[in-house]
Amino acid sequence: MLGKPGSGKGTQSVRLAEKLHVAHVSPGLVLRDMSEHDSFVGRGIKQLLQDGQLVPDGLILWLINDSLAQEHAKDGVVFDGFPRSLEQAELLHQIFADLEREINVVFDIKISDETVIKRITGRRVCERDYKHAYHLDFHPPKDSEICDICGGRLTQRADDTEESVNKRLHVYNTETTPLLEYYRVQGLLCEVDGERSIEEIAQELETLTDNIKDAIEA
Ligand code: AMP
Repeated sequence: MLGKPGSGKGTQSVRLAEKLHVAHVSPGLVLRDMSEHDSFVGRGIKQLLQDGQLVPDGLILWLINDSLAQEHAKDGVVFDGFPRSLEQAELLHQIFADLEREINVVFDIKISDETVIKRITGRRVCERDYKHAYHLDFHPPKDSEICDICGGRLTQRADDTEESVNKRLHVYNTETTPLLEYYRVQGLLCEVDGERSIEEIAQELETLTDNIKDAIEA
């Protein structure tokens, strides 16, 4: 699942993985966890995330290999925010060739840069469960600091400030955009309009994946 920050790729990846009964693999989530550790590595990751930079490919490769080795990944995986550069796409190609696995589809959830800023600055997530996500204008919690579902504290991601978002957007436009052409020529790219509601996008992703599954099984 590709998409600019705030495109909803996290939300949609979780839903799609649940629906397909496959693993959801998000380097961003694992890295946010790692960045909370008060260690040399933890502090280094925290700095890169706050600066909106990509973390080194060696670490990403390790995370991806580790998640593919888990039992629940054997039936399939939805990658959320990976790959993010042509180099990572080549790494994934090599990993899958070695494992005799293949990519069935690459979704790109498309939104404008204006939507990115609007969505990101109002985004709040629950400290207890990242799946409990809100937006102060579009999906407001009853209390702006408390999760409606579990009562956990709502926080803003450290990399969701306007400054970090502008940097993440720049990294997306320079590093990740070339992937669209890379996967388009392979016939794997499927572009989805991300300016609609979560439900509408989820519905379209389900229909598209059902069609792809049918085509593979036929
Ligand atoms: P995300 O949760 O996907 O928005 O990712 C948050 C941050 O984690 C990104 O801005 C990067 O700093 C880092 N990150 C996530 N995925 C990758 C990746 N595939 N390669 C390098 N850095 C990543």
